[in-house]
Order: sequence, then C-alpha cells, then structure tokens
Amino acid sequence: MPSDIGGLYRLDRKKRRRKLLENTPLGDEDLALLDPVSAGEELLDGMIENVVGGFVLPIGVVTNLRVNGVDRLVPMATEEASVVAAASRGCKIAREAGGFEAVSTDPVMIGQIQIADLSDPRSVMEDLKGKKEELMGIANRVDPVLVRFGGGVKDIEFRRVVHPKGEYLVLHLMVDCRDAMGANAVNTMAEALAPVLEDLTGGRVVLRIISNLADRRLATARALFKKDLLGGQEVLDSILDAYHLAEVDPYRCATHNKGIMNGVSAVVRATGNDTRAVESGAHSFAARDGSYRPLTSYWKDEGGDLIGEITIPVPVGTVGGATRVHPAAIACLKMMGLSSARELGEVLAAVGLAQNLAALRALASEGIQRGHMRLHARNLALQAGAREDEVERLVEMMVGEKTVTASKAEELLRGIR
Ligand code: NAD
Repeated sequence: MPSDIGGLYRLDRKKRRRKLLENTPLGDEDLALLDPVSAGEELLDGMIENVVGGFVLPIGVVTNLRVNGVDRLVPMATEEASVVAAASRGCKIAREAGGFEAVSTDPVMIGQIQIADLSDPRSVMEDLKGKKEELMGIANRVDPVLVRFGGGVKDIEFRRVVHPKGEYLVLHLMVDCRDAMGANAVNTMAEALAPVLEDLTGGRVVLRIISNLADRRLATARALFKKDLLGGQEVLDSILDAYHLAEVDPYRCATHNKGIMNGVSAVVRATGNDTRAVESGAHSFAARDGSYRPLTSYWKDEGGDLIGEITIPVPVGTVGGATRVHPAAIACLKMMGLSSARELGEVLAAVGLAQNLAALRALASEGIQRGHMRLHARNLALQAGAREDEVERLVEMMVGEKTVTASKAEELLRGIR
C-alpha cells in the first residue's frame, strides 16, 4: 500500500479518512477509534489518578515514508504545527532515492540493581558472576509470557560504581523485551532478585529499576537525499554547516536534537508509548561520551549528494502500557501495519531523520519562520474570534505586515468588521 498519497493536505478530514481505508490495514471500525472522544470517560478514569477530564490532541498522518522497501503511513499526535508537513517533505526527498534503510538491535532493556554496604565489592562480584545462570533463572520465572515469546533476561553485567561516599555494586539485567517497552517487566524481575541478592551478598539492595539509557535497544536509519531535490549545492552546503555547528556547540545541538524528537515523540505519543522514556533515552544517549552530540550525522557521497544517518534508542512497544488500552493508540499502531516493536523502532528512526533533514533544509534555505508563521497566524486569527471566512484574510494581512501577534489579530479583525 503506497504512502505517497499526493495532496492529502488539500482534502477534508472525511476524504483523508477514506484514503486511510484505501491505503492502510484500517477498517471503518478502526477509524471510529480515532474519533477524539473514543477514549471515553471510564477508560480515562482508570488510566491515572484524580481524573477530572481528558486532553485531546490532533492526529496527523505523515506521507511518503518508505523503510526497507515498505511504505507506511505514519500517525503523529502533536500540538505543534508544521511537524507533520515537514516529516512528509523529508520522507518525500528520501523516497526519490529509494527511501530509508534501517536496522535495529534486539529489543534489550537494562534493569539496574544497586547493592550497597559491601565490605569487598570485588570479591562479591566475582562470586555472583559464577551464579549468573541461577540468577537469570529466578528472574525469568517471574515472566513466563515474555520468555514464551523468546524474551527474558539474556545476560547479567556487573559494574562497580564509585561515589565519594562509598562504592556500589550494580548489576545490569539485560532483558530482551520482545514487543513490549518492558519497564514493568524489567522492574518486576529486578524486584524478584533483590532479596536473593541480599541473602547471597550480605549487602543492602537500594534501587531495582529499569535504566532509561536504552543503549542496547537501538535503531539506525540511513537515507540519500539528492542535491537537486534539496535545492542545490548552496542549500546542501548550508545543511552541512548547520550540522557541523550542532557537532561542536551544545546550544545548537539541543535544538537540533529537539527537532528530531518533534517527529519521534509525536509518533511515540500516537502509539500510546512513553514519550519521556524515549526522550530521556535519546538525550542521555546523545551525551554518552561525556559531551552532548547530535543524534544524526550527515556527509556528502562521491556523487555530491547528501547522506544522512541517525541512531537512537527505541524503548517502545506494540504491546503493554497504554498501547493496547487507548483506542487511538490501537488504531495508530494498526495504521502502520507493523509486525513487531523492532519495526516500530526502525520507523521512529526514519521519522527522526526525515524530520531533522526537513528542518535543516528549511533553515538553510527559505528560513523556517515563513511556513511556521502562516500556521501561527491562523491560530491567532481563530483565537481572536475570526470566522472561517475571515481567517485567510487575517492571515494574509498579518504575514504581509510581518506582525504575527495576538493584539495584531484583534486589531485587524476589528478593522475588517
Ligand atoms: P506491561 O507490563 O503492560 O506489558 C509487558 C508484558 O506483556 C510482558 O511482561 C509480557 O508478559 C507481556 N507480553 C505479551 N505479549 C508480549 C510480546 N509479544 N512481547 C513482549 N511481552 C509480551 O508493560 P511494559 O512494556 O513492561 O511496561 C511499559 C510501561 O511501563 C509503560 O507504560 C511505561 O510508561 C511504564 N513505566 C516506565 C518506567 C520508565 O521508563 N522508567 C518505569 C515504570 C513504568
């Protein structure tokens, strides 16, 4: 099913939904799940504490994505204008050269167990290394379902971590989480091991919880962006300049990576996954060698075209958490026709790269403000109370006068009327 649906943005919502029926595995009953009120009060009431209402975000569809030869229409839930359009643009440029190639590691998350008050951490560590199989067995018995799907603890790594106030022995449970994000699963395993480790070591177990630095669960995507489609040599060189600044300057790098996460987090949210887990994973991974670095890299190939690559941690699931609970998440996951959490991770990497490339291209060429300003002006016009037939005129006037503010919108609206 092709994802290059031209002019989706020109259709009304009803026609866009019809396109989803034609181009994704979604049926009529799935579309109903995308209705803003589909979650219902009862479900929301059970999701968190002290519920007093619901918060609805728009779901937009990214077009043109092709990953490893497969087209996918990708849902995004975000409050930020221009993100869906930019990602679609980035995907379109990549598509002209075949789309994204992506690979990923096994979906391994790390569970940390911190042991304090050991008189000789080194010898305790050597002793525990000899008991690895036994410890792994205890942890795996806690989640037979995960083990049945081929997951579970695959290894235990040991670290001695020194703080001025003392030394800790820290165990890393390497848990293959298959199609789950895995935080609950990993935490439960770590909890189960805690009393056993206290008995074995005579120490005191403090923390037993997942690490959000998911550096064993990575997805990498790469694409070729043809020079001519980027806008020519000058634009390509400016994209490289912008990237180089991000490589050496944390002030720019923070914004560079934020732009990547504009796309990644929007897809993570649409699928009911944990945006904070993915974001803390991305930023801590970006700082893994001690300095904060861009999550993407760019270089020119021999033909003078641009190659972009991204590697990001992808702690996301297609089961567990809210993914199979929230109706919109269920429909969004189905929309992409994924067969595993790994494939979702590869889509996230591709979306992150597309988003970043589109932002760099816009910054390097026309300036990102122009497109942004029109949408911002539209929002301000609506806020000022403009009717549908007045909105476009107000937008033109504000953009024309290069003053896009709430007070300008109100002033111009009074003038029109
Ligand atoms: P979960 O416990 O709801 O689901 C995971 C379970 O589903 C597995 O343990 C397994 O028993 C079962 N399962 C069924 N089919 C499976 C398959 N094909 N592959 C893998 N497992 C399968 O959720 P979870 O994924 O363990 O935890 C995710 C939730 O934990 C998220 O909501 C997240 O917000 C939350 N959380 C995050 C953190 C953190 O990131 N620091 C901490 C605590 C909780």
